[in-house]
Amino acid sequence: MRKIHKIILHCSDSDIHDHDNIQTVRQWHLNRGWKDIGYHYFITKDGRVRWGRNPASFGAHCAGHNRDSIGICLSGRRKFTPDQFCSLRMLLIQLMKEFDIPKTAIFGHNHFNKKKSCPNFDVQEIINTL
Ligand SMILES: [Zn+2]
Repeated sequence: MRKIHKIILHCSDSDIHDHDNIQTVRQWHLNRGWKDIGYHYFITKDGRVRWGRNPASFGAHCAGHNRDSIGICLSGRRKFTPDQFCSLRMLLIQLMKEFDIPKTAIFGHNHFNKKKSCPNFDVQEIINTL
């Protein structure tokens, strides 16, 4: 197993209903020539957690930080649901325990790339309620 030191949160950057599924986002990433979806987890608007890449494998979601991180993507651009945040909290608690990751090692994509607004929700607010 690779060493995982942090968790990075993303959004899919689309509120279009037909994009609210992991197959669509996987196809976007395959179209870029990637071998699979770049994220390890994808959370649909109804709060269901879908498996992307195996956490044992590197993701492709945050330049310079893929080797030691897990990438979680919430479906959405501006509109996220309470079900998604509930599932996100449960997933974070589970991953923090499994990989011994502290709260201080959970970041939004925009923490590493200031040009991005991703994940478009307040990461600190999520961390505060864990
Ligand atoms: Zn992102």
